[in-house]
Amino acid sequence: KRITIAIDGFSSTGKSTVAKQLAKELGYVYVDTGAMYRAVTLYALRREFIAEGHFDPHALIAELPLISLKFIFNPDKGFGEMYLNDENVEQEIRQMQVSQFVSKVAAIPEVREMLVAQQQEMGKGKGIVMDGRDIGTVVFPDAELKIFMTATADERAQRRYLELKERGENVTFEEVLENVEERDLLDTTRKDSPLVKAEDAKEIDNSHLTLAGQFEKILELFKE
Ligand code: C5P
Repeated sequence: KRITIAIDGFSSTGKSTVAKQLAKELGYVYVDTGAMYRAVTLYALRREFIAEGHFDPHALIAELPLISLKFIFNPDKGFGEMYLNDENVEQEIRQMQVSQFVSKVAAIPEVREMLVAQQQEMGKGKGIVMDGRDIGTVVFPDAELKIFMTATADERAQRRYLELKERGENVTFEEVLENVEERDLLDTTRKDSPLVKAEDAKEIDNSHLTLAGQFEKILELFKE
């Protein structure tokens, strides 16, 4: 039987890594909903609707119908890459600049409404692993398996910092930690769909778990 698996949690908990591996193992479709919020943010940055000290949500809302988001499967990587209006933005959306503004864009109700509807459409009639913040609570409240991932902010910032360094970005650990904490705050205090653990979600604290350890735990839950 093909089921829906919702993986939610704070930023940089390693959700996407386990979700991807799980989807591969099960032959399911993987959807990274954070990539969708990031792509809309990249669009807003390029159009200068958002910048340091400037934010014009209404201009962005007016252009939402012009934004097309697609995941196109890359067989070399084994998952779908994010395309914004037919341009591959998979790399660009991971930049620190996008991370800095994404939680503000994700707090716009019209943005959430559009993306949630698209996410629900993607899950129809397929085995799917979707990761994000509100998958088990809003997008798929009936998901058969819900996982909520946590880890300390320090641990998450450390992972994120190493990732950004590896990609040659010029950031300090303190900047990354600040961004992680700021996003946590914005994500948990968002009005219409704050990041909370669904009542029936299983929590995994991976502060001290290896990737293999996390994966094993999830497979165990899957088989329950
Ligand atoms: O998962 P990732 O860290 O890439 O997500 C980036 C941001 O997108 C989050 O900090 C959050 O503000 C937003 N987001 C969201 N709802 C989701 C997925 C991501 O609001 N389902």
